[in-house]
Amino acid sequence: MEQSKGRRVILFPLPFQGHINPMLELANILHSKGFSIAILHTNFNSLNPSTRNPNFTYHSIPVDLTETEVSFKDFTVLLSILNAKCVEPFRECLSGLLSDDVNLENPIACLISDPLFNFTRSVAESFKLPRIVLRTGGAASFAVYAAFPLLKEKGYLPISDSRLEEPVTELSPIKLKDLPMMPNCDPEDFYQLITNMTNEPKSSHGLIFNTFEDLEGQALATIRQEYYPNIPIFSLGPFHKCGPTTSSSSTSLQSQDQSCISWLNTQAPKSVAYVSFGSAARIDHAQFLEIAWGLANSGQPFLWVVRPGLVQQSELHDQALPNGFLEALNERAHIVKWAPQKEVLAHPAVGAFWTHCGWNSTLESICEGVPMICTPYFSDQMVDARFVSDVWKVGLQLEHGIERGEVERTIRRLMVEKEGEEIKERALKLMEKANLSLKEGGSSYQSLDDLVNHILSL
Ligand code: UDP
Repeated sequence: MEQSKGRRVILFPLPFQGHINPMLELANILHSKGFSIAILHTNFNSLNPSTRNPNFTYHSIPVDLTETEVSFKDFTVLLSILNAKCVEPFRECLSGLLSDDVNLENPIACLISDPLFNFTRSVAESFKLPRIVLRTGGAASFAVYAAFPLLKEKGYLPISDSRLEEPVTELSPIKLKDLPMMPNCDPEDFYQLITNMTNEPKSSHGLIFNTFEDLEGQALATIRQEYYPNIPIFSLGPFHKCGPTTSSSSTSLQSQDQSCISWLNTQAPKSVAYVSFGSAARIDHAQFLEIAWGLANSGQPFLWVVRPGLVQQSELHDQALPNGFLEALNERAHIVKWAPQKEVLAHPAVGAFWTHCGWNSTLESICEGVPMICTPYFSDQMVDARFVSDVWKVGLQLEHGIERGEVERTIRRLMVEKEGEEIKERALKLMEKANLSLKEGGSSYQSLDDLVNHILSL
């Protein structure tokens, strides 16, 4: 797209894996449309220099976080520290980029930032730089977040433990237990964080989602009509299938263990359960053992990501397993610290994905037609899981915690029994819809064109 040449876009991801991946994927998409790209990144969870895209420029935002601050278990506290400490270095960086701009052929068109980085608004406004917001989670969960004031008014929030199975009638099929929350966070602080986040798009020049109309059309319509009638909303996902194909290692904070692929090459088609709970969820040792025995007893081969820190108080992943566990399973199990997840999900040997339902994982599974088993832990994951099991019906949810017998039964229901066949068929149909949305004439294809034109008009 020739007319984009000469315009520059600055993208600033929140420094967590699930937020970095879609932001960098969006950067790839915009680059393929002719924009030149500047990436800002904090020196906390900084992007790996060896895997950076040589076509982009990278600018580090120095934030001085103490070890205690980084190890905070309360996400709302860490985020508020980041929001406070990034302001000045971000202002300086932006000021440098904008003053260089007058001498360059490629003037800056806009900033794209994460709505959880709310300091970017006032700084961008002070430079009169248009800002577009990328929400890296799904639209359905965002619609639930946007309804937080209503949920509070109606008495659903704060969530009462005695009412968890009750439906939220205004948000069917969401139940009270599906409403977003964060472990170790004060509910009032979390409420504040969410209302700040959902207010951000109101003062922006647009809101982008990594989703597609056939998947979340209803939520997108609600968001457009009820919450943000005055700003343009774009849904051009799934991002990782939309831009030029790039290796997932280019966005990964951890090095990916490629032994997954050679091990998968030795397994029968659709036989493997891939198990990963993303970059942030934590489980206790008792849950870890229930997962291990449930997987072992299912009889299916499994590939399990046990990242350091997944099991609380057990930093060395293989020490958390019972003695002789892996040896007894022989070649039926493969455990790694971090996987090339997109490549794994695309592998013909993978037949199911046991996931925490982070939005990226959910979308990546949908794109490969892989049915899911859902164990959501926090924030938007519970809403995503409800949509997987009850709306799109492309997976089963472990509704009552993790217990080895239930794990074994659920894997067999999905991977061996008739019920699983129907779920797999629906997953393949949904994958087809994702592909169609990206083709010429599809909704995401159109929305990307709209976004490019919008940026050029700013
Ligand atoms: N991921 C990966 N290797 C792993 C586990 C996860 O590359 O072993 C990637 C995954 O493909 C996804 C991201 O990390 O893009 C996790 O994002 P998600 O929104 O699913 O969950 P979060 O980590 O934010 O909870």
